[in-house]
Amino acid sequence: MELNERAELDTSQANDLGRGSGGGGGGMGIPIPGGGGRGGIIGIVVAVLIALLGGGFGLNAMTNGDDGSQAGGGGDIDQACGTANPDRLQDARCRNLLYVNSIQGYWQKEYPELGNGKYEPTTTNFFQQAVNTGCGQADSGVGPFYCPADKLVYIDLSFYDELATRFGAKGEFAQPYVLAHEYGHHVQDLLGTNAKADQGDQSGPKSASVRLELQADCYAGAWAKHATESKDKTGEKPLFKSITEADISQAVDTAEAIGDDSIQERSGGRVNPDQFTHGTSAQRKRWFTQGYTGGDPKNCDTFGTDQL
Ligand SMILES: [Zn+2]
Repeated sequence: MELNERAELDTSQANDLGRGSGGGGGGMGIPIPGGGGRGGIIGIVVAVLIALLGGGFGLNAMTNGDDGSQAGGGGDIDQACGTANPDRLQDARCRNLLYVNSIQGYWQKEYPELGNGKYEPTTTNFFQQAVNTGCGQADSGVGPFYCPADKLVYIDLSFYDELATRFGAKGEFAQPYVLAHEYGHHVQDLLGTNAKADQGDQSGPKSASVRLELQADCYAGAWAKHATESKDKTGEKPLFKSITEADISQAVDTAEAIGDDSIQERSGGRVNPDQFTHGTSAQRKRWFTQGYTGGDPKNCDTFGTDQL
């Protein structure tokens, strides 16, 4: 993959909240729509904590106890990722912002085809260690996630180191895959798929949770197919100069590495399908590939098939 050094990034699509419990950054304090009253809120929190990419597999405890050198309230994405900074693409935040721009550019175009009006863009919040969200407090151990209550994506970028060291998912293209998966959850939220899945089983090989996660993988694949078409803020310059088959393989390998069965095996346990929440390695690989091959989210109906 080659990023376009000349691309102008839309810096409004990400915030850097920095470190701590999340009080210091922008984008917080958004009221929970329909909050209170609904018994489903607990359900949403639980679903969110499960609906993390690879969530719930014990990444915690790795990110605690560092030297505190990065304490503070985050950084200014506008400055860091603006064209005035020629080195911006060396900064992981700016690269991730570029991926977010590409993913949302794709959905701006593609979402209306799904027959539910216009796509509503949302922001990715970078945080370190812990963050307050509309879905409650979360720490880095839960992995990246989408919170339906505030409609924001959250990621501690150190997650990618975890992916590389513990799951062998080393390629850079793992990163846009992770983000595209989380934005897949945003799309599901806009379509009302999340809310429907909330009523279903939250674990098991054919559970609503597994179907939701596999669909997010499929949506990520659909984006990947069209990623090189995505343009920067000016609408003229491409965000990616190139994406190769090797990059796509990195995404597939990542999806495969974080299947429920692989994670259960890696943690020394027996494979227990009743506890599946994201799908097996084979399934995650298959659905990402399904999205990629056709390049069409309409091919991602994981709820309407028995062939997961
Ligand atoms: Zn997910």
